[in-house]
Amino acid sequence: MIAIDFTSLALLLGMGFLLLGLLPVVRLLRLTRSRSLRISWSFLGLMIIGFIAGYAFLIAALPRSADPILLAVISSIMVLGSLFVLSVAFLSAQTVSDVARLAELERDVIIDPLTGIHNRRFFNDRLAEEEARFDRTGAPLSLIIVDLDHFKSINDRFGHAAGDRVLIVTAARLTEIVRAFDVLARIGGEEFVILAPNTNAAEAEHLAERIRLAIRESTITLPGYGEVSITASFGVATHLPGERAQSLLSRADSALYAAKASGRNCVALAE
Ligand code: GH3
Ligand code: MG
Ligand code: MG
Repeated sequence: MIAIDFTSLALLLGMGFLLLGLLPVVRLLRLTRSRSLRISWSFLGLMIIGFIAGYAFLIAALPRSADPILLAVISSIMVLGSLFVLSVAFLSAQTVSDVARLAELERDVIIDPLTGIHNRRFFNDRLAEEEARFDRTGAPLSLIIVDLDHFKSINDRFGHAAGDRVLIVTAARLTEIVRAFDVLARIGGEEFVILAPNTNAAEAEHLAERIRLAIRESTITLPGYGEVSITASFGVATHLPGERAQSLLSRADSALYAAKASGRNCVALAE
């Protein structure tokens, strides 16, 4: 009699653990974006529900006249099994949540929060990588600095929020135009940079000119003010044999300065 009660109690406890195991599975489904993983976790959830039904069946159907020791062994195994399922589900959910948090932190380190494109830190790292690649392969490498013209006056006339909107729209436009292998980053307030691997001076100048026209010919809607148009100036430099990355950057910067000095809304090539 005592053994029978123990069996029912043990199986009920196991069902409780299995029910608790469904909670981390729900959390996993919320954390996971990948379709195939979501299907797998759903399958795990269904298996747990199947186990719960199995435990309920055993409570009803297990012959209580069986050897009490055998019943005790079966009950213990069922409880340990349910605890195992609960632990695995809980640890999986915890691990996935930690990994997601790390990925988010990693993303925050290299992404500009305003525009969603890469930031200066990411650009610096990629510049160093591309410099090393240039030293190895000698493949051409160009750099374009884009600086919006008279951007301060946008802020002054329409407010800082409107200025932010201009930056967001410009970043989106640049993202559309640059090629998949180019690195686009916001490296200052209204300054963007494009690192273009396998791109010689003529190709980089052509790319800059395309971007210049795209910016000049499109308008940006500022809520409450209507359409505004902006222009940008461009400094383009192409890597010279033996040149260090900082020198390439400063030559592009000098070219940008020259573009500003020659009236803005133009592309200047570094010496
Ligand atoms: P130039 O044609 O010579 O480049 O003139 P400019 O007005 O574009 O350049 P300047 O350096 O004088 O002004 C840049 C302005 O950008 C000043 C600053 O308030 C603004 N700015 C910098 N970061 C942000 C930002 O994140 N949001 C907004 N709205 N404005 C910013
Ligand atoms: Mg500017
Ligand atoms: Mg500037």
